[in-house]
Amino acid sequence: MLEVISVIMENVIIIGGGPAGLSAAIYLARAGLSPLVFAGSPPGGQLTLTSEVENFPGHDSILGSELIEKMRKQAQRFGAKIVDENVFKVDFSKRPFIISPASSGSVVIGQSQSESEKTDSTDSNRFQPISTKSVIIATGAKALWLNVPGEQELRGKGVSACATCDGFFFKDKVVAVVGGGDTAMEEALTLTKFAKKVYIIHRRDSFRASKIMQERVFSNKKIEVIWNAQVVEVMGKNRLEGIKIKFTRGENLPQFKILAVDGLFVAIGHKPDTEIFASQVELDEKGYVITTQRLAMELAKLKNKNEKLEKIINKFDFNYQMITSVPGVFAAGDCVDIYYRQAATASGMGVAAALEVERWLGENK
Ligand code: NAP
Repeated sequence: MLEVISVIMENVIIIGGGPAGLSAAIYLARAGLSPLVFAGSPPGGQLTLTSEVENFPGHDSILGSELIEKMRKQAQRFGAKIVDENVFKVDFSKRPFIISPASSGSVVIGQSQSESEKTDSTDSNRFQPISTKSVIIATGAKALWLNVPGEQELRGKGVSACATCDGFFFKDKVVAVVGGGDTAMEEALTLTKFAKKVYIIHRRDSFRASKIMQERVFSNKKIEVIWNAQVVEVMGKNRLEGIKIKFTRGENLPQFKILAVDGLFVAIGHKPDTEIFASQVELDEKGYVITTQRLAMELAKLKNKNEKLEKIINKFDFNYQMITSVPGVFAAGDCVDIYYRQAATASGMGVAAALEVERWLGENK
């Protein structure tokens, strides 16, 4: 395996190889800044876990993995260097920043992993810490799952975590959404445009979602809420056929019921992949990276003073939207985005971050 030693300082390192990171890489490579992308191991992010993508502009229908491969090739064609490896440590305390990739893998910078494995015969398996003038964090977020029998096997066969992506496949069908937050409300409302019946299954007797979203749900005739219930099994052979739910309140507990559904949308939250940045940039209470855009939005929503926001506000440069609390470190995609989490929105954020990095490097020589 090959030891990657960076003798020259990088202009920009992008951490993450999903649509945000790769879109940033395309723009930065075309700007002549030869970005180095740590695409993760395995590379590609959430998109490689989905099957058909029908809502990425310019593609009628494309496999998630194929879309990622096309983005990688496009970025490499303009000179982006892509390494299929995770980053395990970063140091943003001073400039240049130091990025430490994980200690296994074999990649020649500038080639894809498969290409490098063909040509590489050296024996070292270590990557050296690399210095860089700027960074884009684009590590994404993972949907949380119920972890009940059958769920994993039927993912993509009726079980989903994205109504915007998959709702279209459930025209005139019966579906269920699990969760009681804003995402669950939004998923259920989206699904009413396709399905004939939408159950929301929630483990308590009240939702945590915002009042307005709850009102929209309660006034929609296609939606029926099943309170105090948990999905304990997902059933079906090659496709989802039903779910087993367990009631947590009422008489003669435990009580179970089998509900015939064609689709199950798990909307119990997401976990951003940002652990390694915890002591480096400001994160929110759920671990999402705070950019000036998010901070500005949160401040605008506030009616009263908020101590945490007041404390961190001076760390941000409001001349940039995608910048984090550390000048020179930017963030884009699902690790920032608490609302949309779409491949196309992640791509757009990646582009915005890239344009800002280009400007920032020009202003901070
Ligand atoms: P969330 O607010 O954390 O809600 C997660 C929901 O899933 C909760 O109702 C929780 O139940 C339930 N849950 C968690 N683990 C579960 C499990 N193992 N089994 C069954 N249920 C489980 O997450 P979110 O809805 O994704 O929202 C995240 C953030 O994004 C929030 O700040 C939200 O306001 C924001 N957001 C806003 C909008 C909008 O304004 N349009 C849209 C989407 C998201 P409990 O309630 O019992 O804990």
